[in-house]
Formats: sequence, structure tokens, C-alpha cells
Amino acid sequence: MDHATPIIRNLRARGVVVPMKRPLATGGGTVAKVPLALVDIEIDHGIVGSAYVFCYTPLALGPVVQLIGNIGEALRGAHLAPATLFDGQQARFRLLGLQGLAMMAASAIDMAAWDALAKARGVSLCRLLGAAPMPLPAYNSKGLGLIGMEGAPDEARDLVGEGFTAIKLRLGYRNAAADVAVARAVRDAVGDGIRIMTDYNQCLDPAEAEIRIRALAGAGLGLDWVEEPVRFDDYAGCARLRAKAALPIQIGENCWGVHDMQKALAAGASDLFMPDAGKIGGVTGWMRAAGLAEPRGLPLSSHLYPEYSVHLLAATPTRHWLEYVDWAEPVLKSPLPVVDGHATAPDIPGAGIEWNEAAVSRYAA
Ligand SMILES: [Mg+2]
Repeated sequence: MDHATPIIRNLRARGVVVPMKRPLATGGGTVAKVPLALVDIEIDHGIVGSAYVFCYTPLALGPVVQLIGNIGEALRGAHLAPATLFDGQQARFRLLGLQGLAMMAASAIDMAAWDALAKARGVSLCRLLGAAPMPLPAYNSKGLGLIGMEGAPDEARDLVGEGFTAIKLRLGYRNAAADVAVARAVRDAVGDGIRIMTDYNQCLDPAEAEIRIRALAGAGLGLDWVEEPVRFDDYAGCARLRAKAALPIQIGENCWGVHDMQKALAAGASDLFMPDAGKIGGVTGWMRAAGLAEPRGLPLSSHLYPEYSVHLLAATPTRHWLEYVDWAEPVLKSPLPVVDGHATAPDIPGAGIEWNEAAVSRYAA
């Protein structure tokens, strides 16, 4: 085995816009197509590390791809030491701030760099991080947008039927009674044995959030958590709400890096936390987030990126739930399998991401 640090020979960034099986209406807006920036880092011996980052809106796809390419030019010839490279991005973007598009680009490059390093070492990403692959509980987040009483019960049954024992339900209907009615219909449809997570996508004000969480808790529906009821970065507001809420508050997917996460934790903003690999700083940022969570006993769940998160959660002492979405599946050779509601990191070199090049060409943006 070659123990020398490989050299980055080339970096390629491409954009695709892929279709969604179930367009997702949330309290924070609708996602109908998935814009993804794909990154490939080539190192010595022709080894290629790959990753993708979700760009939320097609408007941001071109700029993110270009930013990744620009950074890639500067990385050509650098040693493949992902954490050191990530700290280099912190320095490079200190005056701009490592957040927003810059953080998405840095996170994508970091994930691809770790993938390349794992392949160079001949181990899976989770083994490179010192962890063994293990079955992780996954919830099905591929549907149950704001589709109303007419569609929600059937879709809930469909999501469970895909092999899951937990599902995510978006809320934010016209009032508390409407939220409770849909949540009750979904609970009745799937039965008591299925876990249900709920998500407001930041659409409530603090007063309304208090009313709705009280109504949901009072309905006794056995909900696992209430996600982002209010603006995620109103950390003091989240903490006040949490003090009154009879259901666990979940936030984290919108925090830019561990410095945002530290502010949220210092404020006591949530009971649970769910970093997004594309916003927290890739693998490097995630491992630092796991280090913040461990001494606090803070349960960490993932947001998007199941193919990477399945490795990251295995290396996270306070691992909680894997969010399962299939958004990148159209451009992947093999999707992450879920068996009996659990996903296990593939025990092959790297993270297990390989592009379906015909599909990448078809969906090129
Ligand atoms: Mg969410």
C-alpha cells in the first residue's frame, strides 16, 4: 500500500439538473428539480474522488460550479490532505466569509478529497475515519410535502412500503388544526409502529410556533421531533420555544459551518441537531460537528447526502437518524440500499459514489 500523500492532479466541476420522483412542497418553498454540482478530484495513479452538492435553486448552480472550478485551479499540485485543504479554504475566504456558495464549494471539494483519499488507501470512507460500517436507522424523506389530506395518507403508506419504519412529514398548513388533522391522518394510515418526524422549514413566527407545537403535542400523535419551526438563526427564539415545547426541537441543516453550530448550541437552540454535509464543511466540518456534539450528548442526524452521511454517522458517537432522499440517484451508478429501515455504508474503497456518465450527459446544465 502506498502511504505517501497523493498529489491533486486535476479537479473537474459539472452541473446537472435532475428530475424528482415526487416534487416537494414545503413551508420554505417548493423543490421540483434538483440542481447538483458534481466534483471530481483526480490524484496520482488516475484515482478519482467524487462528490456532489445540492444547490437548492438552478439560479445558483452555474456560480457554484464555477466557484468549485476556480478553487480547483488553485489546488492543482497540492497534497491531498483534506482537513489541511479545508483550513486553507477558511483562510482563502476569510474576508468574504466561508458561508453560502463559498461554503458549498468548499464542502463539495472536501467530500471529494476525502473520497479520493479513502480510495488511495483502499478503504471505505467510514473505515478511513476509524469507524466500522454499521446498520443505521434511516427515515424516508422522499415525499410528504404539503400535499394535504387528500394525498398524505396514501403517500405515507407508500413511503413505509419502500422499506422504512420512519418517515418525514412537512407541516405548515393554514392553521394548527389543519396541521394536526394531516398529522393524525398520516398516523392513522401508518399505525403506531412507524416513527414520524415533522418539519416546518422555518415558516412560522415564534407565537404561532408555540400554538402549533402545543396542538401537535396535545394530540398525542407520538411525533419524534419538530424541525425548524421558526427562522433557524433566531437561536434565542428557538431556545425560548424549546423551553415551552413538549416535543423535541430539531435544527441544524442551515448552519454554515461549526461556528454557526457553536452559536446554536451556546444558545440552547435545540434538543437535536442535523448538520448538512454541504453546509457544515463536508467530511472535515462534519467530524468537527461530531466533536461538538459528543461531550454534550447531543443526538446528530444527517440532512441530505445519504451516500456520504452513512459513513459520517458511523463515525459519530451521538449518531441518531439518517435522512434518506434519492435526489442524486438519477446520476449515480448504484444508489445506497435500505434494508428493514436501515442503511449500511458500502465496504468498498471510498464513499461509494460513481457517476452514471450517460445520465450526467443527459441532465447536463
Ligand atoms: Mg428540514
